[in-house]
Parts: sequence; structure tokens; C-alpha cells
Amino acid sequence: MSLQVFGLPVSRGVAIGRAVLVASSRVDVAHYFISPSEIHAELRRLRRARDLVDAELESLKRDIPGDAPTELVALLDVHLMLLRDDALAEATRHWIVERHYNAEWALSAQLEVLGRQFDEMEDEYLRERKADVEQVVERLLRALDTRADHRPVPPAVPASDGQSETPLVLVASDISPADMLQFKGSVFTGFVTDVGGRNSHTAIVARSLDIPAVVGAREASRLVRQDDWVIIDGDSGLLIVDPSPIVLDEYRFRQREASLERERLARLRHRPAVTLDGQRVELLANIELPGDCSAALQAGAEGVGLFRSEFLFMNRDGSLPDEDEQFEAYRSAVLAMEGLPVTIRTVDIGADKPLDRMTVNELRHEHTLNPALGLRAIRWSLADPAMFEVQLRAVLRAAAFGPVKLLFPMLSCLEEIRATLASLARVRQQLDGSATAFGAVEVGAMIEIPAAALILPTFLRHFDFVSLGTNDLIQYTLAIDRADESVAHLYDPWHPAVLSLIAQTIRQARAAGKGVSVCGEMAGDSDFTEWLLALGLRTFSMHPAQLPAIKQRILRADTHRLRTLPELLAESEDPRAALRRWSMARQHASAEIKVA
Ligand code: PEP
Ligand code: MG
Repeated sequence: MSLQVFGLPVSRGVAIGRAVLVASSRVDVAHYFISPSEIHAELRRLRRARDLVDAELESLKRDIPGDAPTELVALLDVHLMLLRDDALAEATRHWIVERHYNAEWALSAQLEVLGRQFDEMEDEYLRERKADVEQVVERLLRALDTRADHRPVPPAVPASDGQSETPLVLVASDISPADMLQFKGSVFTGFVTDVGGRNSHTAIVARSLDIPAVVGAREASRLVRQDDWVIIDGDSGLLIVDPSPIVLDEYRFRQREASLERERLARLRHRPAVTLDGQRVELLANIELPGDCSAALQAGAEGVGLFRSEFLFMNRDGSLPDEDEQFEAYRSAVLAMEGLPVTIRTVDIGADKPLDRMTVNELRHEHTLNPALGLRAIRWSLADPAMFEVQLRAVLRAAAFGPVKLLFPMLSCLEEIRATLASLARVRQQLDGSATAFGAVEVGAMIEIPAAALILPTFLRHFDFVSLGTNDLIQYTLAIDRADESVAHLYDPWHPAVLSLIAQTIRQARAAGKGVSVCGEMAGDSDFTEWLLALGLRTFSMHPAQLPAIKQRILRADTHRLRTLPELLAESEDPRAALRRWSMARQHASAEIKVA
């Protein structure tokens, strides 16, 4: 029966495919695809584990003392029977052979299927046998486990010949931002999670992958079964499980329309972003890793406006990248951008971007304090100046190979500004005194804490440019954890307080003759493009995938005609409604002109 689950839309478009459940909360095992050449070895692994468990159960049975209750022998017999039953053995083979899952994943997938069958049984005795299947599978998983690292990891990209014909859609309770990153170029055509907010870092990475995605769909991973057909509607935040043929047809139609629109927008790639009245706008890309530069160039970006360097620091089991490794990464981004500027932000570790691959669910259990207000971003860097200076040295060295801007996240006060700039000055001095080549960098600060926006003149005195991190600015202005789906409805970019802080930052920076950009998600949201243009913003940084649609919006804008928009929104207690009325009035007026 078809089923609908509502969540939060985070990445536009429609994905249709078979569900792949990853890291179910009950069984935490490694999930990865194997290549076709590894299938036999994986089946052998599974067979060996089964033989091992078989022998283990037989020996337990043999060693049962004569006076033990007879139920114990019966129980072991049931376990042996389940172990040898085709419902487990054959079906698990199916996941390995047909879907190229690793053995652990195949077993947990089959456990999921069997578990549901048992749940539906009328007979209570049979229903209770589910626990026995779980125990047998646990034994098998233990027998398979030869790896020290027992944590769940998302499926790796399969070898090209291992690519499944059927489109696959990922369904998970939660995924860490670092794990999400591994899906770049993977087989998944869409994804859904139970938890997370629209601008959680996992959602942001999903958006950068440019695949339809929904987060905060609370029960999704419980309601969806392994291999179910599902539709992800990333425009409205809807997950449809087991859709009817009519619904499927409708969504297939929408998929085709979206891909035509994409092709049309892609033709704008070489057009400079200039408004109808001749205002030149700079469109930059947000990237997570140097490899993203090709997508940035492909989308027509004129540089990188935000390189989230923290992704180089994640999932390394506690070891941090040393100076040379960082230098190579930054240099490769600089070289890949072929003379266009690359803005490298120093690490923003903490809150929902931990160093290891923790999910929001796990963080919730680990931390009683609020990590978003704790040792995060520049605070983390300043807490370990030696580590911070390693990163600064690597960035300055990369600047010898092309234009680099250095950006500091989450500064809030003069003391932090001074400490940050003192570290930078120290590093410059060290490099000056050595034979190491390094380059000049423009230095900027993220404005993402209300306190920073409110003391902007101080920032403008110390920095060459500022970049509005609207994601955190919203979070900290409204006291809404951006990763928490339970308060996601209050995470409101249209809140007058948020708009006011953004407006005053752009105006003051321009008045001071300093560079100002927006690199938060608002830059890639076309609902805000005209308002930002009207405020005087001329530099937008966003995921490459969002760039063509924003460019189109800019090409159609006339800043003279947008002049009154900032005042109109500033005076309204409901700016979103005010913008809607204003847009409708304009559409009406242009329709009348056409008729006349
Ligand atoms: C922001 O806060 O808007 C931003 C761009 O930084 P991040 O999303 O990485 O916190
Ligand atoms: Mg931020």
C-alpha cells in the first residue's frame, strides 16, 4: 500500500528508485558496495561465517549438561534450523549477488525483511521467533567481523562495472556530514533521513551533491523496507513509499521537465551575470573538497567564495592533516580554478560537524551541553594556536600559486579578531624569514553571529572583506539549532531580525568600501536574489548546482526597479508576505503593459 511521509525539503528535484536502508538503528554494521569480481569472495566469507556459527551452535548443544532444561536444546535447534533455512541463507546471497552489498549489509538487509514478516504473523509463538532470527544474525555478524572498525559507514562508490541498473535511493535514520560527502558521484539518486534541519551541515552537503533530498522525515527509516520503490520529492519534502502507477507517471513527467529546465539553464554558463540595468554580479562557488572545483567551473563560477576546509579534517580517526597535506589540497584547488580567486575558510569544526563521523543522533546522546555554542570554528582554532598556524602556513604557501583569500569563521569580538590576526602575522613573519614561497592574501571575516553584525565597524577596520554566513546568523539570531528537526519550523530566514542584520551588514560594508558577499544558503535561494541585489550585494557564493538558476534571476532583474524593495520589507512585520504581494503586483503590471 502506498504511503506518504512528510519531511523538510533540502535539495530540489525528484528521485525515483529502490530504497537502500543504511545503518538501521538496530544493527550497526559496515555498509559498502563490492565490485562484481568480489562477489565470490564475499559469498565465501558468508559461507565461512555460517559454518563457524553452525559449528558453534552444534558444540553448544553437545556441551549442554544432562540436567539442563530441555527448552535449551530446543532453542539451539531452532537457531540451527533458522541458520540453515533458505529464507536467511539464499535471500542474503541475493543481496550480495544482485545488489552487490557486502555480507554484513546483506545480512542486516535480510534481517529487516524477515523482521517485518515476523511482525505481521498472527501466531504469538511464531511472532516471538523474530528474536531468534536476530540472535542468529548477530552471531553471523560477529563471525564475519574481522575488522577492528565496527562503525557503520555509508556505501562506497562501487566500481563502474558494479553499477546497478536500478536507481537507488538512500534511506537512513541519520548521516554525518562527512559520510554524506562520500556520496559524491555515488550511485544514489536521492536520499532521505529521519532527523536533521534544512540547514544542518548534512543537508548542505546533500544540496551540494545536487540530488533530491528530504531530511527530518521522522519515521522514514522505520516505514520504508529494504528495496521498496520510493519517490523523493525534494521540492515539497515528501517521501512516497510504494507509489501507485498514476503517481509514478506524474513524477516521471516532473523528472523529465526538471531535466529539460536544467539543460536550458546550463546554456547560461558562459553569460556574465549582469542585470538588465548593467550591474555586474560576481557568482562564486561553495566547495567542500578541491575535487569540487570542476563542478564549480562547469557551472560557470567565477571563483570559490567558500572552501569549507573542515572536510579535509574529518573522518581521520583523530589525526589531523599536516601542513604539507593541507598545502597540497589548497594548492590543487587554486590550480584547478585557473587564476580565479579561491576563498579558503579556516576549519569550522564543532557543533554538527564533528571530527569523527558522528551523526546528529549520536551527538545528541554524547553531549548534554550545546555544542553549537561551544568550542567551534575559530574558537577551536584559537584554542590550539600551533595547529591553527599549521593551517595558516599551508594557505599562505598555496597563495603562491594563484589568488587566495583567507576567511575566518564565527568571530564574535575584538579579542578573537586580535588573536586571529596575531597568529596570521606570526606565520607571515616565519615564512618571511624562511626560504619558503608564499603569497599575499586578502583577509576576511564571516559575519554569522549577531554580535559580529552589531559591531561591524570593528570588523571593517580589521578586515579586507566580510562574508555573511546566513545559516549560522539565522541559528544564532533566533536561538534555533539548525540541525534539530524538532525546531525546524522556527528556523526562519524571513524573520525581520535576520533581514535587518543582513541589510545593515551589506550597507555598512559597501559604505566603508569593503568587499561583502553572502556565502550562506540564502545566496542560492532565488526567493532572496532581488532583495539582496536591491541592498547592493554584488557577490553571491553558493553550491555550483544552484548557480544557473540564480544567474537567470539576476539576468532578469533591474536594480532601479528594485529600489523600494528593502524599505518595503523592513517596514513589514511579515516580510515574506510583503515580498509575495510586491511580486504579484509587478507581474500584474507587466501583464497589463503587454495587453496594452
Ligand atoms: C553559514 O553559516 O552560513 C556558513 C556559510 O557556514 P557553515 O554553513 O559552514 O556553518
Ligand atoms: Mg557558519
